[in-house]
Amino acid sequence: MDYRKLYSEIMILPVWDTHNHLDGSKYLCAQSFWDIVHYFWFVRELEGVGYPWVAEAMEMPKKERAEAFAKAFDIGRNTYWNQSLRQMLKDLWDVEITDSKSILEADERIAETGQRRGWAREVCERFSINTITVNRISDNGLQDMEDIVCIMGGCRLPGARQLQEIQKSSDQLTIIKQEAVKIKSHLVDLFNKGFHVLRVQPPTGVDIPELQKSGNKIEDIDEYLKHYLFRILDENKAHLQIFLGMEAPAEDYEPRTKAHRHYAVNDTRRIADIHDIFDMYSQCTFEIINAAQLSNLDIVQAARIYPNVVPGGLWWFNFRASTYKETMQYRLEALPATRCTLPASDARCIEWCYCKTHLVKRLLADFLWDRLERGWLDHELAIYVAREWLYDAAARFYRGLK
Ligand SMILES: [Zn+2]
Repeated sequence: MDYRKLYSEIMILPVWDTHNHLDGSKYLCAQSFWDIVHYFWFVRELEGVGYPWVAEAMEMPKKERAEAFAKAFDIGRNTYWNQSLRQMLKDLWDVEITDSKSILEADERIAETGQRRGWAREVCERFSINTITVNRISDNGLQDMEDIVCIMGGCRLPGARQLQEIQKSSDQLTIIKQEAVKIKSHLVDLFNKGFHVLRVQPPTGVDIPELQKSGNKIEDIDEYLKHYLFRILDENKAHLQIFLGMEAPAEDYEPRTKAHRHYAVNDTRRIADIHDIFDMYSQCTFEIINAAQLSNLDIVQAARIYPNVVPGGLWWFNFRASTYKETMQYRLEALPATRCTLPASDARCIEWCYCKTHLVKRLLADFLWDRLERGWLDHELAIYVAREWLYDAAARFYRGLK
């Protein structure tokens, strides 16, 4: 048994990508080099070493932009994302980025594959990405991928502005009841169409506010409707994706820079505070996609208590080698492999789905090899864990086979 053997076996295991933003209405495959490298989460590494903010970069002549990119990309060559991106450019377009010329060459090749029918499927096949979970399918773009797409439902509750409008009314209760009817009919429609996986945000606590005809607080209206929604989800045994650990800065502050200012929050009470919700809606499964490093262990602990808690993908700031390896150990040592999902690419184009899947598979191979060498696993067990985390567990949850 050697590392290369385990690595190659993991590379061909099927993958269920549990979260991304592919929809085909804009583009499914990257249409240019810039569609890939300006991925909002990657480009920060370059902006930090002198590459202009994306909007400004796009106004520069292509050659000048390519020069600025080559310089920043070279400075940042130590990061894992930088290395993964280089690997992908080599694998998919046989280009090595060394200077502006190679960038313009990559740009041409990417423009060609962007128009090539079947390219998205080909990219998925490279790493056995068998299923991608998307938020919606637009009228074009994903039709010929239907067999590998899993569509997730959603339910939009009244947002901040709408809640303010409701609060201004002298008969809040009537409007709130109308909103509840809309929620119910939307969900009934989804369940009738066979959806049972939804992306939603949970209520804050277990107390359901008793609303009055008027004078209710915005937080109480919001909480009431969330509980209304969750009662229906519970009755229908829905599988829920919930996203935790990320916050946005206050909207009333006028930023001086064009930096992407969302950040991860390591709130040490975040998971403990929703334990009651896991219990209250015990017929739902809660797949937690998490951006905050310090919640990774708490999520595994919650899954040891509640059979309906599913540790899921690592998201945004949590998508890094150190947190993956740490999280893999938390999960391996304490939870049956069938209880966790792992890949959540958050990709905006199919190529990032490839890039991130490659990184996750590589980290998984490293992690399992290390455990194997130390005698905690044998080869068969390592592959069983990898198979469950990459695909099988998600397939059961998403197909409603708990
Ligand atoms: Zn996302």
